[in-house]
Amino acid sequence: MLLLIKLVSRAGGWYLPITIDEYDVRTIDDDGGVDDDDKDGAKQGCQLDDDTKVDEDDESRPIVSPTLPNAAVRAQHELSHGVFAPWCDSCVVGRGQDDHHKTATVTDTVDKRRRISFDYFFARQSQGEPQVAILAMIDNRTQYSNCTVVEKKGAYPDVVRFCLRFLEELGLNENDKILLHSDDESSTKQLTKQLVEQVHVQASRTTTVSDSKGSNGLVERHIKTVEGQLRCHLHSLASHNLSLSSSSQAFTWFVRHVAWLLNRFHVSQKDKQTAWQRLTGETYSSPLLLFAENVFCYNKTALRGPKLASRWSSGMWLGRHSLSNGHVCFVPSEGCVRVFRTVRRVPLTDRWNQTSLDSIAVNPFRPAIAKDATKSQLHRDFSSGSHSVQESPKVPKEQPSSSGVPVKRYTPEMFWVFNTLVIQK
Ligand SMILES: [Zn+2]
Repeated sequence: MLLLIKLVSRAGGWYLPITIDEYDVRTIDDDGGVDDDDKDGAKQGCQLDDDTKVDEDDESRPIVSPTLPNAAVRAQHELSHGVFAPWCDSCVVGRGQDDHHKTATVTDTVDKRRRISFDYFFARQSQGEPQVAILAMIDNRTQYSNCTVVEKKGAYPDVVRFCLRFLEELGLNENDKILLHSDDESSTKQLTKQLVEQVHVQASRTTTVSDSKGSNGLVERHIKTVEGQLRCHLHSLASHNLSLSSSSQAFTWFVRHVAWLLNRFHVSQKDKQTAWQRLTGETYSSPLLLFAENVFCYNKTALRGPKLASRWSSGMWLGRHSLSNGHVCFVPSEGCVRVFRTVRRVPLTDRWNQTSLDSIAVNPFRPAIAKDATKSQLHRDFSSGSHSVQESPKVPKEQPSSSGVPVKRYTPEMFWVFNTLVIQK
């Protein structure tokens, strides 16, 4: 009988390739695999010889296996996916490549004025779907940003109001000087032109000339981040057996919610802060739910109705309102989206409903179906105490600025927009 023994060369001598493992308790999982520690060649090498940490001839090394945290940590992470988690399927599927891809440092323009950049991008989930246009904007000082699905590119009243509202959220005052920045495309230039005419701060605008693409880099990088977050949250929705077509009305709410989360929970690797922290100096701490989760909404307007009528309505959670911080919920029985101060979660088994999600026929610009969307009715609904926005804001009088040039201000009509329609965002 011929016995072949393979010897290995190591540290100047020949040895039998035997691993002497003093902790040789190999755990086998349900699928029959050996657990990660046992598969780790480097660890076995350590036990073989203190001087020789790894086999010099073997350059293979395993990809680090992520450790799954406990259920509470996983549930908390799922609310925002704000910080990339290697153990989270949605993060890996949606953002994995971006996080490991080293981006070249793009030098933004030398102009140090506060700059708000605007750009459009298109999105869809499959080849068969129509492309949806999304407008993105970002402030270079705080990285505070926003996004909305738009009907079309260009400056039409809804989108102008949305952008003015974004500028208001930045807390700019009349002495601030801002630069509204866009690329060379006529639709974006048209938008910034309208904004310069209507905003109440001293604004001017600039465009990126076609041969210096880098100077619009901030908003372009922001769009990449938004796309990653959208993929991530769509995957997360799919894990609850919910699907969301890009061309649906529900998708318009979804994009707004993802943009809202991005500001409050996406931590920059540079300064370990969120845009919200840079803007307000505070950490956002209000509790969250998951997008499209079924909830009970406390209906304060029911207090005016019959005493025995239910004060809770079934709703679907679509996010939080950026001004009032109220819960934005779709109410299937009314076919509209409203803001509530109080919501309650339902048991896990009743939490998801594709039919309700598909039945959303209103968007953030038109939160109620046409027949209900009268000005007075909306105003009443949204000033019933379910939010904290002032009902009759003071409209400042026209005053010349220190430079003698009249400062553009919000008109009363615009205030109405900010305090009623806006609440329905
Ligand atoms: Zn995640």
